[in-house]
Amino acid sequence: MTTPANWPRCPPEARSLASFLVLIIDNATEGCSEVSRDTEIRCRAEGCKGSVLARLDLETGEIVWECPVCGHHGLIRNWQKAKWDRTEP
Ligand SMILES: [Zn+2]
Repeated sequence: MTTPANWPRCPPEARSLASFLVLIIDNATEGCSEVSRDTEIRCRAEGCKGSVLARLDLETGEIVWECPVCGHHGLIRNWQKAKWDRTEP
């Protein structure tokens, strides 16, 4: 199977968001702790120099991240599958 020449490209914005989330997942799961840790990942908000805090909610399995400077925050669900997919060839 070949990839068509007109195959839609993933927008750069989506790619950058994806790698941001992957970094957070890596960081949050490394400690496997419910206590927020400083991931030292630069916040994505424009002009914000905060570094993102992330914690793993062991009950729901969600990763909760937040920028303490601007309040930009989010939830990552189903990251286990995303992570698992990444390890497959
Ligand atoms: Zn921020």
